[in-house]
Amino acid sequence: MAGRNHLYIPGPTNVPHEVLSAMHVPMQDHRSAAFPLLFAPLLEDLKKVFGTTEGQAFIFPATGTAGWEVAFTNVLNPGDKVIIYNFGQFSRLWSEMAKRLGFDVEVYREEFGNGIPLDKLEARLKEDTNHEIKAVLATHNETATGVTSDIAGVRKAINASNHPAFLFVDGVSSIGCVDFRMDDWGVDAAISGSQKGFMLPAGGAFLAFSQKALKAVETSTYPRCFLDLKDQINQNATGYTPYTPNLPILYGLRKALDLLFEEGLENVYARHYRLGEGVRRAVVAWGLEVCAEKGFESNTVTAVVVPENKDAREVIATAFNRYNISLGGGLSELAGKVFRIGHLGDMNDVSLLGAIAGVEMALLDSGFDIKAGSGVAAAIEYYRSTAAK
Ligand SMILES: *Cc1c(COP(=O)(O)O)cnc(C)c1O
Repeated sequence: MAGRNHLYIPGPTNVPHEVLSAMHVPMQDHRSAAFPLLFAPLLEDLKKVFGTTEGQAFIFPATGTAGWEVAFTNVLNPGDKVIIYNFGQFSRLWSEMAKRLGFDVEVYREEFGNGIPLDKLEARLKEDTNHEIKAVLATHNETATGVTSDIAGVRKAINASNHPAFLFVDGVSSIGCVDFRMDDWGVDAAISGSQKGFMLPAGGAFLAFSQKALKAVETSTYPRCFLDLKDQINQNATGYTPYTPNLPILYGLRKALDLLFEEGLENVYARHYRLGEGVRRAVVAWGLEVCAEKGFESNTVTAVVVPENKDAREVIATAFNRYNISLGGGLSELAGKVFRIGHLGDMNDVSLLGAIAGVEMALLDSGFDIKAGSGVAAAIEYYRSTAAK
């Protein structure tokens, strides 16, 4: 098919031209005197995106899933109890990993569309007077349902119960797109990955740990090797890595961070809000609903619910086969019930209007009772009225 494929899935996201070019480098000696000049500033600059000056950032040649494992196996001890609310595929996978790694997982299922229930969390922590719960696992942005939870609120709930549990936050599809304040929110382990807000290919797990968490790493008895933070800490201290780094990802990250800082993180967050709001208005104009409950709507991905007599898979297949646009599908129980529009990373008004127009065509082709141009018109009005003057 002539023309480019239009990628509107919530990861991997579009990689900007500048980043693609920056990654096109010959391989180098990662033990040379030049390597720390690239690597050490990356760790420092990542901290800015994570919102931490007190914590320490790390890069593993892996993906977000490995980031979860780094946090579990370095900060906790075998069999520790952790608590997690499960409201979509990613929070579910995270809880499954905790089980597979032998932790004592207290998992509560929430309605899809909800986020972390702060009142329930606070009540449960208050009840845990012996402090058996060692970590609270919080999925900041549940990519499967397009739900963003209130991490400041999670911290408040932990503090209100005077509980010493660590706070682990999965920010894979939020960090670099929406406000993230590791220090202010008292996050002990923040986990992200290269292929979403950081606008890179997959292959980089980006993490940050609080001093409290790093202290626990010293005494944790959990067996680990490739993902051992101690090896990173020792090698990173001189600007090196314990094993061969993923050089193109590092060069790409340099450029991606430069782009984020050039735009200004506050502007990046405001852009994502606008992009998300335009999509939400288009959804209303179509007479459809988003999966997220009020107040939980994500600015990086929108999951659109289709009526019971429709199959979202048909919309996604039509969009891809006829119009060459890629949408996200419904994961596990949501298969066929939602389609997802990713609006994160290297995205602007007009690029996203392409998604809205493409979705509209696919909806019409799939027999949805919508008016051609209705969603596009709603988004256009919103984008025009809120565009920078
Ligand atoms: C994508 C994603 C992950 C998994 O990351 P991988 O890089 O695919 O391992 C974890 N959590 C959330 C919220 C995600 O969106």
